[in-house]
Amino acid sequence: MNSIDPDSLEITKSVLYWSGLFLFLLLELRFSYRQASVPKLNRWLANLPLSIVNGVIYHAIYYSVLVTIMVRAESQQTGLLQIVAIPYWMQIAAGILILDFVIYIWHLLNHVVPFFWRFHRVHHSDMNMDASTANRFHLGELLMSGLLRMAVVYTFGISIFAYILFEMLVNLSIQFHHSSIRVNPALEEKLVLLFVPPSMHRVHHSVKIRERDSNYGVLFSLWDRFLGTLTWGIDQSKIIIGIGSHRKFSELGFLHIWMMPFKRKSR
Ligand SMILES: [Zn+2]
Repeated sequence: MNSIDPDSLEITKSVLYWSGLFLFLLLELRFSYRQASVPKLNRWLANLPLSIVNGVIYHAIYYSVLVTIMVRAESQQTGLLQIVAIPYWMQIAAGILILDFVIYIWHLLNHVVPFFWRFHRVHHSDMNMDASTANRFHLGELLMSGLLRMAVVYTFGISIFAYILFEMLVNLSIQFHHSSIRVNPALEEKLVLLFVPPSMHRVHHSVKIRERDSNYGVLFSLWDRFLGTLTWGIDQSKIIIGIGSHRKFSELGFLHIWMMPFKRKSR
């Protein structure tokens, strides 16, 4: 599998990301689960430019380093997954499960460690949720999580294919579970057994801290289920989205959210 070209995989990932995003945003306009409480366009004008700026900087800093680590792991058989004698497909599956578990733990830490929460609250400060919320992260949080991912890729020798496939699946998952699409409840009951449907993740964006500090899963719901952090069955119509300390919509524009980690501490 050494013939895989990381650049073409990365381009495919970007095309899927942007086309997925616009498809979800269009579907939301037609099949929304409830009326937006704040102007959608204003939120998009903060979230979408943030995604572009973050994407360009993140790619410029991490992409070539990550590819170098992964090429080395595959060609020199370094890293824990490379030295055990398991079939290639099993290496891919294990790589995806490991990355998803690490992101679950990282997400949990973002909620319990006050320094990380300063950055992660940018994501939670969105007062409505839709696919554009999936892009609303502070660059500081992304750079810290990028370092962690690099350490995981290095330690386990995760392959280029596994890593970029994981990122494609995560992008699809976060666009879906942040979306405001009305999904059939019976289908969600089935999806939640393994994945993260929108009504599970909306609980995580509740202003109620008890609800917010649950449902950390990104791709699989397994970690929340096994580690006791799953909250399911909350009445969706009663969830107020956002954080209690940031309820002024006029103070949640592009520049405000850039500065948010450096402002007063809040829960
Ligand atoms: Zn969170």
